[in-house]
Amino acid sequence: MGFFEDLGRKVGEFTHEAKRAADEEAEYPCESCGERFYADREVCQECGGGDVVPLE
Ligand SMILES: [Zn+2]
Repeated sequence: MGFFEDLGRKVGEFTHEAKRAADEEAEYPCESCGERFYADREVCQECGGGDVVPLE
């Protein structure tokens, strides 16, 4: 395996891991559209709905 192939694979793995971690930390989903946020907010930035509730 060449250096750049190996590097590309590692970057891909890192991106996958980072995305999964981000999903797990976004614990405030909007019940209207399913968008998830990192902090509690009264109004969803995505759909403007007021149904953003923290996960149990
Ligand atoms: Zn929403």
